[in-house]
Amino acid sequence: MSEEYDAVIIGGGVNGLGTAYHLGKKGSTDVVVLDKSYLGYGASGRNGGGIRQQWTSEENIKLALESRKMFEKLNEELEEDLEFYQGGYLVLSFDEEEAEEFKENVKRQNRLGVESEFLSPEEAKEIVPELDISEVVAATFNQSDGTIYPFKVIHGYANRVREMGIEVKEHTEVTDIVTDGEEIKKVKTDKGEIKTDTVVNAAGGWSSQVAEMAGAEIPNVPVRHEIMVTEPFERFLEPMVISFKHGIYFSQSEHGNIVGGIGNPDEEPGINQKGSLWFLKTFSDTLLDFIPRFSAVNMIRQWAGLYDTTPDAQPILGSVPEVERFYQVNGFSGHGFMVSPMVDKVTAELVMGEEPSMDIERLKVERFEDMDIEEEGAVVG
Ligand SMILES: Cc1cc2nc3c(=O)[nH]c(=O)nc-3n(C[C@H](O)[C@H](O)[C@H](O)COP(=O)(O)OP(=O)(O)OC[C@H]3O[C@@H](n4cnc5c(N)ncnc54)[C@H](O)[C@@H]3O)c2cc1C
Repeated sequence: MSEEYDAVIIGGGVNGLGTAYHLGKKGSTDVVVLDKSYLGYGASGRNGGGIRQQWTSEENIKLALESRKMFEKLNEELEEDLEFYQGGYLVLSFDEEEAEEFKENVKRQNRLGVESEFLSPEEAKEIVPELDISEVVAATFNQSDGTIYPFKVIHGYANRVREMGIEVKEHTEVTDIVTDGEEIKKVKTDKGEIKTDTVVNAAGGWSSQVAEMAGAEIPNVPVRHEIMVTEPFERFLEPMVISFKHGIYFSQSEHGNIVGGIGNPDEEPGINQKGSLWFLKTFSDTLLDFIPRFSAVNMIRQWAGLYDTTPDAQPILGSVPEVERFYQVNGFSGHGFMVSPMVDKVTAELVMGEEPSMDIERLKVERFEDMDIEEEGAVVG
């Protein structure tokens, strides 16, 4: 392989393919998406499909709100049923201090256009009657949140960008990004070289490694997160239920399976996608505290993926100081699927040299040197 493209996108997850889709919509199709494995090998094929607008930072609220609106139109655009089910997100609080923060979060979310509500434990139980609310202090709920089927989104994008004339190459690993001064000259892969002056780093948990190839530094660190699915049974759970205190989330898919995960606060950073017994035990014990009725259900599969974490749990978007035309769309922690439509649109605009639809100054990598960073407080796990 020895080729030339206007842009090379590294990563065949939702953000690499989504960025390609938005470039294609603008008529820029001299683009290749490369993945070292299969499409969805990264977190995009391993996540809970949760779409939530109940965030604390203005940036995340705006990204998630605009993205939710875009997801609502994506079935039609990709001509694919993406199983976007808006059964809401029920966020539970187990202490007074957190409940006070929830009140402030709801105010901020409402001001920015998210129609979340602050609820009493009894009101939360009306939404999920099987919930044990004996220790719940308060909750928030937003009906237009929900879940989506991640593989359908990835393959919907891949099919559409291929129809547009964009190349998508699986099993093609980027091994180096060659620069001359601040300019990108070519990308080296295990299948040959590609001439280009523009690279998008959508490599998820491997994004720091990819940045290093170009001589750039981003502070992202990969951390394993585990998840499971149960056998299907009669549908009774409408919303996704989460608790920041327990680090747990769970929802029931349209097909009846419970999908859920829990974070391990002692997880060591690093590339590790293996399942653990700790997860099986901790997740099932905690889940039963929330909904005792689940004791009769069998888990059928567990797996793990990487959160690509940053010091403030907010994404890194845009250019970097060291190299020209090297765009970042990474560092999403546990919420890179739900904000993907908007961040991918903005990334495509930046690649095209257009004014971005959203101000991303506070999401650029320079924030870690220049600004007082505000940590996102609503990360599960
Ligand atoms: C267990 C779990 C649950 C989650 N739940 C949710 C959720 O409910 N909602 C939500 O919004 N988010 C969730 N997330 C986070 C979300 O999945 C990610 O933020 C998002 O999928 C990131 O997508 P991406 O395209 O940026 O990266 P990824 O999907 O990780 O894709 C990166 C790709 O880059 C490829 N790559 C890496 N290095 C190279 C290289 N050198 N050359 C070529 N290719 C390379 C990889 O193979 C990979 O396919 C969850 C994550 C995990 C792990």
